[in-house]
Amino acid sequence: MNVSDSERVATLLVADGFEITRNESAADVVLLNTCSVREKAEHKLFTRVGQINKSAADRTEKKPVLGILGCVAQLEGETLFGKSPAIDFVLGTKAVGRVSQAIDNAFAGEKYYTDLGERDEIYDWTVAEAQRNSPYIAFVPIIEGCNKFCTYCIVPFSRGREKSLPASEIVRHLLKLRGEGVKEVHLIGQNVNSYRPKTDDGLEAFRGATQFSRLLRAVAATGIERIKFTTSFPRDFHPDIVEAINEHENLCNWVHLPVQSGSNRILKLMRRGHTIENYLERIDKIKNSPRCISLTTDIIVGFPGETEGDFQATLDLAEYCKFNFAYYFKYSPRPGTPAFEMSDNVSSEEKTERFLRLDKLIRSHQQPVFRNYLNKTVDVLAEKVSEKNPNQISGHTTCQMVVNFEGAADLLGKIIKVKILESKANTLYGKIS
Ligand code: SAM
Ligand code: SF4
Repeated sequence: MNVSDSERVATLLVADGFEITRNESAADVVLLNTCSVREKAEHKLFTRVGQINKSAADRTEKKPVLGILGCVAQLEGETLFGKSPAIDFVLGTKAVGRVSQAIDNAFAGEKYYTDLGERDEIYDWTVAEAQRNSPYIAFVPIIEGCNKFCTYCIVPFSRGREKSLPASEIVRHLLKLRGEGVKEVHLIGQNVNSYRPKTDDGLEAFRGATQFSRLLRAVAATGIERIKFTTSFPRDFHPDIVEAINEHENLCNWVHLPVQSGSNRILKLMRRGHTIENYLERIDKIKNSPRCISLTTDIIVGFPGETEGDFQATLDLAEYCKFNFAYYFKYSPRPGTPAFEMSDNVSSEEKTERFLRLDKLIRSHQQPVFRNYLNKTVDVLAEKVSEKNPNQISGHTTCQMVVNFEGAADLLGKIIKVKILESKANTLYGKIS
């Protein structure tokens, strides 16, 4: 979501006549888009501000204007100026559409401008010259914000309430992206399957048990080659989502379904709204699909009150699910959330020890997954020349595995058949088949 927000900011700036540079020392304006999900991400902001200040001090010409955007900006507002006087302006998560105005104000000499206000409108994504990290892959937000208030999570505070974009607008956007040569679209949101637009405009023609599964069928009909979606919220994961994937080849065979813990007691304390029993029902539906759907998840270790028994239940769940990939995090207390008030009684050493045990188990499940690919031929979207080897192209499979293969830049943007010969550290290696 943050990558998508940064792309949106760059798109708006270019539309207003600015030029984007990745060379920080040549920039007249430096913008930092921030994340507040874990404390570590927040610390990074101040490290980066320090680095920028240091390199600005070496400049002979005027120092750059420094703007802080996104979640930390939204939560901390003007207090950021007290923590670092070098910051010129602060724009909250919904105010990023007014970035040009904030820059103009700073150029005009206004110091410490703050905008934490609401959106003016839903931004028009279909503008010319969209600034995407990849010409072949586009992120399309379908729902913003979150209403779930899991007890550990800051997102509902930093991003506000859920707001679904109209389906007709999403479909129009995908058709335009297809015309521009985009091969892969990621429908994104904190919980995409909680998608509930105010009207069915754009969905009338499509069958589906929920508005999200109708949207999936509607976007599949646009004919974009690949459609991926993330993140899915377990409580709202209707089996019809799997049916839609089974029906449409261009709905990719990948589901990211964050479980967070294997213990019902901890899930209740987290206020997740699902139990392990109903999570496993969803997993069985996914695993029984003929599409061979890749399953990934998020897990938090060391939530307040997590006992060795609770953690063992998480290991048991991981053993059963055999995730293709997982993001796991040590619990990070976030001021303002209900869990922040709970006694964080799992020591830092215990969190580290549990984290490492989970890491070992999940890696052991990944090895057979990687081995299973050997000598098989997969479709890979050629996305970029590999950073490590200029003779190799890097891309993803439909189920989000990274694949590198020998090839030249003229393959970029094409879907290539690659025979897998080797696997190393989360990457598959192969040759054009
Ligand atoms: N909406 C998605 C869901 O509910 O599954 C997740 C979005 S959240 C921004 C991404 C992940 O960050 C979560 O799945 C969770 O594992 C992790 N996370 C959120 N708050 C955290 C915290 N306080 N400490 C550690 N990890 C956290
Ligand atoms: Fe955070 Fe829970 Fe919302 Fe996901 S569903 S963003 S974890 S509050």
